[in-house]
This record gives sequence, C-alpha cells and structure tokens, in this order.
Amino acid sequence: MRLPAFCFDNSYRRALPGAWLAVDPAFSPAPKALVLNHALATELGVELSEDAAAVLSGTVLPEGAEPIAQAYAGHQFGGFSPQLGDGRAHLLGEVIDRAGRRRDIVLKGAGRTPFSRGGDGKAAVGPMLREYLLGEAMHALGIPTTRALAVVATGEDVYRETALPGAVLTRVAASHIRVGTFQFFSARGEINKVRALADYTIERHYPKCVEAENPYVALFGAVVAAQVRLIAQWMGVGFIHGVMNTDNMTLSGETIDYGPCAFMEAYAAGTVFSSIDHGGRYAYGNQPLILGWNLARLAETLLPLFDEDGDRAVDLANELLGEIAGRYRTEWLAVMRGKLGLVGVQDGDEELADGLIAAMEGQGADWTLTFRRLAEAVTDDGAVLPLFADPAPMRAWLVRWRLRLEEGVEARLKAANPAVIPRNHQVEEALAAVTGGDMGFFQGLLEAVVEPFVEREAFMSPAPSWFGRYVTFCGT
Ligand code: AMP
Ligand code: MG
Repeated sequence: MRLPAFCFDNSYRRALPGAWLAVDPAFSPAPKALVLNHALATELGVELSEDAAAVLSGTVLPEGAEPIAQAYAGHQFGGFSPQLGDGRAHLLGEVIDRAGRRRDIVLKGAGRTPFSRGGDGKAAVGPMLREYLLGEAMHALGIPTTRALAVVATGEDVYRETALPGAVLTRVAASHIRVGTFQFFSARGEINKVRALADYTIERHYPKCVEAENPYVALFGAVVAAQVRLIAQWMGVGFIHGVMNTDNMTLSGETIDYGPCAFMEAYAAGTVFSSIDHGGRYAYGNQPLILGWNLARLAETLLPLFDEDGDRAVDLANELLGEIAGRYRTEWLAVMRGKLGLVGVQDGDEELADGLIAAMEGQGADWTLTFRRLAEAVTDDGAVLPLFADPAPMRAWLVRWRLRLEEGVEARLKAANPAVIPRNHQVEEALAAVTGGDMGFFQGLLEAVVEPFVEREAFMSPAPSWFGRYVTFCGT
C-alpha cells in the first residue's frame, strides 16, 4: 500500500495543553477516494494514490499523527455556548508546506469526540463534496480559505432525515484558531491560557506583533485587518457565509466552515439561504456588521492582555473597534475599484461604487454577470441592460462610469470579475448526480470553478425559474 507520508510537527498540541483532548478517528469499513486534490497535495509535499483513502478516512493513522479535538466556545446566532469544540473533526497534526507555511491537516466527519454532544461525529458525502467545491472555488477567486485535500466515502451510512452515504473530508487550514477558541478560555476566567493562545497565534500568524509596543493590541489590529479584507472580498464575489458565528471566524483570516453558504445570484442586500437564519442575521448585506460584532467579542477576551488597568484596556479596544466600519469601507472600496476597472484613487469613486449598488437594488440583476459584462458594457449598453428589470438607473450609471475609464479597462475588468461561480442549481445537480453514482458533472463543475475567469458558457447562467428559492441546511 502507498500511504501519503505527512511530515508532522504538532505545535498546537505541544504549546497549548488544556486547549484540546486526544482522540483517535473512527474506523471506516470501506474507504474509497471520491476526489483527491493533487495540486494541494503537491503544495504539502505529499503524494496521493488511491490507497490514500485508508489514511484520509482516519482508518489508518499516518506516522507522526497525534490526533486531537480542539476545544472552543462561540456565539451562535448571538447566543453564547461556553463549550462547543470539534464534535466531528480530528486534527491529525501540522505540516510545513513547500512554501514554508505551517498548515493543519484535519479530518472532518471521522467520528465522535468528547465534544460531540448528541451528534454522531459523521458527515454525508453531499455536504463534504459541497465544501470541497466551494472552498476550491473561493481559493481560485483569490480569497483566503481553508481547502480540501480529499473527500473519501466511508462505505457506511449516516442517519439524517434518511440514511445517506458517509464521507470524510480532509481539511487543510493555516490554523483552526477561532474567535471562539479565545472565548473558551476567557469564559472560564483562564487569563493565562488566553495569553498563551495569543502568544501562540502571534508566533504562528503575525510574528511581527512581538516587536510592537503592545503585542496584544497589535495582534488584535492584525486580525481586524485580515478579517476586514476577507469580508470585503466575500462581498465582492457575492459570497454569503450563512453562519458567521464566532466559532466560525478564524484568527488567520481564512474563510472556514462551508455549511449553509452560497453565492448570491440576483443582487439583494437581504439575501439569505440558510434554513435556520429566520431573522436574516447573516444576510449578505449584514456581513460587514457581523464582522464588527464578532471582532468586539474577540476584543473582550483580550482586554486583560491589553492593559492591567481595566479602563485603559477598554479605551484601547474601543479605539480599534471604532475604526472597523471605516476600515471595512476602505477595503470594500478597493475591491469595488478593481471590479469597476478603475485605476488609481479619485474623489468620485465611492459615489460610483454606491451608485452601481443602488442601480442594482430591486432589479433582479445577477451579481456575477453584471460585473462580468461590464467589459462589453464599456462600449455597449446592451451587454448589461437586459439583466435589469428597469434599465433606466443603470443606463444613467453607465454614462457616469465611462467618464472615469482609462485605456486597457476591458482587460482589467475581465481579470477582476469572474465568469464562473458555483451556481446553486448546478451545485445541487452535481451532488444529485453523485448520489446516483455519477461523478462526471461534479468533476466538470469543479474544473469550471477552479478557473473562474475562463468563460465556460455551460456554467455561467443563473438558476432557471423552476429552481425556485434556494435553501441550504446546517449541521449536515
Ligand atoms: P458548525 O455548524 O459546523 O459550525 O458546527 C457547530 C458545532 O456543532 C461544532 O461544535 C461542531 O463540531 C458540532 N457538530 C456539527 N455537526 C456535528 C456532528 N454530526 N456530530 C457532532 N458534532 C457536530
Ligand atoms: Mg463550525
């Protein structure tokens, strides 16, 4: 058997006792690889053959693996749970990739852990393939994200509303440190552990912070910068995470936890896909606000590290928190300048960006196609106006926009605005075909979403009307 040989070095386990519990993944009766990410494997310096399924299902432990489940807490839809933790994830260890970056290797769905509560610790094929596809799409769009190394069918059923084929996804991440990891220790009053976690996070993700006058304030500032940039990028591609709970927000600034997420088609700020998000807390247009809310929860855990004097600590936190909205706006505007093909920075840019959003509101215009077709709309109104229910506001906007354009704008627009995103109806079609035993459509869709700037007509159309309102589900 040719098993993948990871070169593990398990610093989290060494550095942070109390932040995890040791637990081995479960045995799978008949592991079989469904998708293997050879490009990512190369980055990690490992080779994946069909035999890799034994390791990537958790059935055979690779040498050097020291599996743990990480502890964390979190605000879920605004309500605090002091103990969540990895209920269906095993961190096998960390590897240093070819570029010298330390990355976590996690099995998701490989059975119960001490944090599983009532859950079975398992996952079904459909949602794991969905995470694979959406993560690779985000990566190809240039957005920081955890990625999938493989999805392996376990050969065992998992029980949801019905029996479904089970799977394990291998997740690769810069780390799995979450806002909720800080909240776990903070809620228990374990300030020394919050400090140890902060020191570890600085060393792993933001080493320059040690040189700052106040390294913990610098750490918070670095996380703010990374998360502000991330959410601005999400907004640029119309990505809706769906469960921006504090346990699903990383300190590294990577997108994590592809549950009920989806890409918006027709633009509407209130777009929600998740079946459980009744109040629209995590709606598209609310994501920048939730960003600030979650970062405030992180700041609270760091207060004792900011300053011994409580009032002074609160002042420091408030200063940084007060800047988040402005910093987000600046990042968003930078993303929008790119999407509008603008060079340099000019006074009217913000108005132009806001003007397009205003022209799109209530028009049913597809987010991705509107921007993609701007390249043709430089000279031809007809490229975009048919996407709008009432074309008048957009027609007026195009006139203003063209006045701001410079030489070479078409190429810039095509490089900034993807042609292909994972369209909800096609994701569902691909997963349904897999259930019927056919991986062909999934593979075709995957090929298209990992080259999002290449125009493949078959993957560029919005959902047909019969598809109806799209609903996604959590905890699947
Ligand atoms: P998520 O909604 O995926 O962010 O998960 C929220 C919490 O529920 C985390 O603590 C997960 O580990 C846990 N969880 C989700 N699904 C399962 C499952 N099938 N078995 C055990 N725990 C789970
Ligand atoms: Mg989660």
